[in-house]
Amino acid sequence: MISLPHRISGNLALDLANTISWRNTSREVDHLATFDDVVAWSKEVGLIGDNFVLSPPEQKTLYEQVLALRKAISAAGSAIANNLHPPRPDLDVIRDVAALALRQASLSGTPSTLHFEGIYRVTGAIAWSALDLLRGDELSRLKQCPPDDCHWLFIDRTKNGSRRWCDMGTCGNRAKKMTHRASR
Ligand SMILES: [Zn+2]
Repeated sequence: MISLPHRISGNLALDLANTISWRNTSREVDHLATFDDVVAWSKEVGLIGDNFVLSPPEQKTLYEQVLALRKAISAAGSAIANNLHPPRPDLDVIRDVAALALRQASLSGTPSTLHFEGIYRVTGAIAWSALDLLRGDELSRLKQCPPDDCHWLFIDRTKNGSRRWCDMGTCGNRAKKMTHRASR
């Protein structure tokens, strides 16, 4: 299994989008290449525990839904971070999974919490995280890391909106080195 990526975005849906590193480059890494990777990631982010058991058809559906959501969230998030309209088919994917999940969920408590069942413990939580982001105040803080080969998305929660990099240790450092080189 490939190691899991750092979670730097501050949002569950964006963390899923960031499970591909260096997208569309020769060193692209897909951290969710298999169903087992999806389960490991879902445990890492706290959506499920060791009691998560699915039938083989459910496993296939979960894997397909996670990849569809990842593609949709990446496309919609990239568009919004670059001041473009998110593509409608991508918004539809997020809405459809959220709707399927909601039909099977229970709602309880004050303030209320949605409790998803089966595969929707993973995909329902992600789709609703994306929906909440799309409809919420933090959407204006959605940014994409600037280098062309990075593509990672994150929420800039700094007071003055000054966060530029996915991770100071990777892209931030690369940028510093390039500036040094340029100024020499
Ligand atoms: Zn980056």
